Amino acid sequence: MKNNFIELSRVPDDGRSVPLLMSKERANELLAKRGVATPRLGGDIKGTLFVQRAGKRVVGQGAISAAVVQRCGRCLIGFTEEFGTTFNVAFSTSVAEGDGAAGEIELEDSDLEVELVDEHGIDLEKLLIDEFLLEVEQYPVCSDQCRGLCPDCGKPLGEGVCPCADEKIDPRFAALAGLKVGKKGDGPKN
Ligand SMILES: [Zn+2]
Ligand SMILES: [Zn+2]
Repeated sequence: MKNNFIELSRVPDDGRSVPLLMSKERANELLAKRGVATPRLGGDIKGTLFVQRAGKRVVGQGAISAAVVQRCGRCLIGFTEEFGTTFNVAFSTSVAEGDGAAGEIELEDSDLEVELVDEHGIDLEKLLIDEFLLEVEQYPVCSDQCRGLCPDCGKPLGEGVCPCADEKIDPRFAALAGLKVGKKGDGPKN
């Protein structure tokens, strides 16, 4: 797609700002192609990228944000969180000029990520997915208070859906209240 491609030859010396936009459908499609099951995008990826010339390179400062659907690493429940990051990139033009083997890049700033130029330009879709995967939370939890799953019944603890806790804490109360409390050897008839 033309809008998702920046030709390095058309980047002015004093730079220009490029709006970034990728639909969540497209982003999820690209994530699936890379074999990424989670996270998924819950909303479009939006942002801006400012690119300018710096000698033989084109450098950029970008910012992107999106709603992301994560799966909690403790309770396995899906939840949505806001994702946002800023990033610096540098694109070597040496490949386009043919004066070096593909992949040969001179690093000048240690804090810049350097990416290969593909066919004289910047593939913004690849850039967006790369930056997203680099910065998105790898060990998401739905909340710091999440207690995970009950080892007995497998349901989330602390949300009123695990029936085990009351029985464990004090089965006598349940008995006093006239509730039936399961005992060993007193299970359901087969
Ligand atoms: Zn959780
Ligand atoms: Zn339980």
